[in-house]
Amino acid sequence: MAHIELKNIKKSFGLVDVIKGVDLEIFSGEFMVFVGPSGCGKSTLLRLMAGLEDITSGEMTFDGTLVNALAPSKRGIAMVFQSYALYPHMTVYENMAFGLELAKSSKETIKERVEKAAELLQITPYLSRLPKQLSGGQRQRVAIGRAIVRDPKVFLFDEPLSNLDAALRVATRLEIAKLHHAMNSATMVYVTHDQVEAMTLADRICVLRDGLVEQVGTPLELYENPQSLFVAGFIGSPK
Ligand code: ADP
Ligand code: MG
Repeated sequence: MAHIELKNIKKSFGLVDVIKGVDLEIFSGEFMVFVGPSGCGKSTLLRLMAGLEDITSGEMTFDGTLVNALAPSKRGIAMVFQSYALYPHMTVYENMAFGLELAKSSKETIKERVEKAAELLQITPYLSRLPKQLSGGQRQRVAIGRAIVRDPKVFLFDEPLSNLDAALRVATRLEIAKLHHAMNSATMVYVTHDQVEAMTLADRICVLRDGLVEQVGTPLELYENPQSLFVAGFIGSPK
């Protein structure tokens, strides 16, 4: 469980201001979706939450604790990227077990967690296969499984389905929705440029524009009452 607060978060790369003062609260257990045009800072914001980049200024807290300077491994987060980045020479089981082995979990715990995650994602029959023997959708499930086994408080997804074809995208989106229900205390932050994904998965959507929050609200709120043409353009209402 984690309640995330971003207070006036800024991030610059050299002289370029990419995140320009983001204030946002993400509630514990919430499914928050970030949308916005390419280059508006969605991935950067996720990377700041993950601790993969340093914040230039502002405060980020998880459950009230300042995490600005906390190492990624201490944040209780797991990140799933667009490309699956599985280890090609390891089986599915080994890929999923790897992070737990690094964390020195016992063999029994590892087995139990990997099997449970595999069942949830319906990849049990593939545990002894190598990544190259899987389809794209199956690989992405393994990548998600690798995140689940660590039992994170926060999941960060960066366009996890965009490399999949349309049918697989739908199937995997349903898996992610199920996952959110199955892990009902985890907070999920999910970046997508797919309107349907945003509308169907989100408890709330945060529309980003040029490094700032343009509007935050439930899919229905944004649909019925977009504050700008820009928001309407992302949410698909006629305004
Ligand atoms: P999005 O995910 O919304 O497409 P990004 O967060 O990837 O956008 O990028 C936002 C802006 O920050 C882009 O203009 C990008 O070029 C720039 N940017 C991202 N990462 C770096 C970096 N490591 N160094 C310099 N510029 C970067
Ligand atoms: Mg991105």
